[in-house]
Amino acid sequence: MPLWRPCADAAAAVAFAADVAAVRGGLPLDVDGVVVRLDDAAAAAAAGATARSPRAPVALKFAAAAGVTRLVGVDHQVSRAGVLMPVAVLAPPLPLGGVSVARATLHNYGRAGAGRLGVAVGALVTVARGGHVITKIVAVHAPPPGGVPVAPLATCPACRSPVHVTDRDGGGGGDGADGTAEEVADGAAAARDAAHAAAPPRRGGAVAVARCTNAGGCAAQVVGRVAHFGRPACVDICGLGAATARRLVDAGLVASPADLYALTADAVTAAAIPGLAVPTVVVRPTVVVLRVCSAGRAASTLA
Ligand SMILES: [Zn+2]
Repeated sequence: MPLWRPCADAAAAVAFAADVAAVRGGLPLDVDGVVVRLDDAAAAAAAGATARSPRAPVALKFAAAAGVTRLVGVDHQVSRAGVLMPVAVLAPPLPLGGVSVARATLHNYGRAGAGRLGVAVGALVTVARGGHVITKIVAVHAPPPGGVPVAPLATCPACRSPVHVTDRDGGGGGDGADGTAEEVADGAAAARDAAHAAAPPRRGGAVAVARCTNAGGCAAQVVGRVAHFGRPACVDICGLGAATARRLVDAGLVASPADLYALTADAVTAAAIPGLAVPTVVVRPTVVVLRVCSAGRAASTLA
């Protein structure tokens, strides 16, 4: 079928969206909806625009892929800013939209996150991939008697320092979890989950923010800061992802992003870090490029 159709009215447009949803599994690319546009230029101009977008085109999104599984545990991840984020561990993993979902963000510990849902370990939960990318728990069914609610830890899971919990009203923005949130979901969904976790839900309600108080010495925060420093949106260091950052920090070679500028191939080689075979380190006046090569390739150092 053609992937566009003139529609006489809104009902016809909704029917077309349903037709596309029925065949989207056979399309050569993933789609999450259709766009309805006015083909009358005068009417489109009269519709005007909001501060962010024109009103004439409207997206009709397909229903999110969803399924039911069991929440069997909760991990507590620590962001580069020290914010703890609860992450649901699901079993069995759910096949949703072509990926296997074994983990889903719970956002935070307050009424805008885990508390609002009434999440408890052992409960059956409905998990959805909003926009077919972000995985989250949207409903809790049959919480087990005596189920343990999700609550902030008293100490940081990474460094055992005391955790400070504050409540504030929800509504968006703020300092939600980030950094290691790329580990929340499988595959390509990870980066989008990290972005989603950075912005708490906008439904309102208290956002309980739990924060590790060991800003300078918490290894999870240090790894998060080093990995963030390497991202394309920051300095864009080739090869420096979360896993490499963790290896460099665990080996004692890096304790802050500044240490990357003093990192040498000899130091990395001497540390014999598993997974970091032959590094190539290129230092330029304004940017560090750290590229991890496969074993057997020649190493070169330019400084
Ligand atoms: Zn900590």
